[in-house]
Amino acid sequence: MVSVFIIMKSTLPKIVFATNNAHKLEEARALASGTFEILSLSDIGCHDDIPETADSLEGNALIKARWVKERYGYDCFADDTGLMVDALGGAPGVYSARYAGPECEAKANMALLLANMEGKTDRKARFVTVIALLYRGEEYLFKGTVEGTIATEAHGTAGFGYDPVFVADESGVAFAEMTAEAKNAISHRGRAMRKLIEFLIN
Ligand code: IMP
Repeated sequence: MVSVFIIMKSTLPKIVFATNNAHKLEEARALASGTFEILSLSDIGCHDDIPETADSLEGNALIKARWVKERYGYDCFADDTGLMVDALGGAPGVYSARYAGPECEAKANMALLLANMEGKTDRKARFVTVIALLYRGEEYLFKGTVEGTIATEAHGTAGFGYDPVFVADESGVAFAEMTAEAKNAISHRGRAMRKLIEFLIN
């Protein structure tokens, strides 16, 4: 018996998402489904450690998107996210990834956050994502925010980063206790991504 395999090549327009974070790629591909094919940094052979040296989310997102456009030639978007906690004067903010030190793991970052929040009654916080898009020679920024509170301990196992300690006002449970779909519907990045996709398809 002869088996015939037909490889279907996507005819969707392609755009690079300057990340290799599997969670982010899954979220973005679900949102862009049927509109754009989203390529990761590894998909275009980029294994660079792109510096994030700006002091704002906008600045870091632009650095990453410009890096890809200038060195690899692709139209591209890049995101940068910060967790802003009111009782900590907006920290960890733009330094969320390195809160407990350079190259820090989510567990250490969360442990430090919970320790710094001990005894605080004001637990209000928000996640903010900025997406920078380099598209057809122009630069664009899209922002998404989700309001919530910092829990007193970790809950749930889904998601990544600070998900176990962030309780969105709209869900009343930690992001790490939600399905990816439910989180996407209200999350900072989901909101910024929907603005981006809306822009790209119109
Ligand atoms: P980045 O800008 O995406 O690298 O994110 C900065 C920091 O925020 C990292 O520590 C991430 O783990 C964390 N972070 C980003 N997005 C999320 C999210 O959706 N949930 C929880 N933590 C996040």
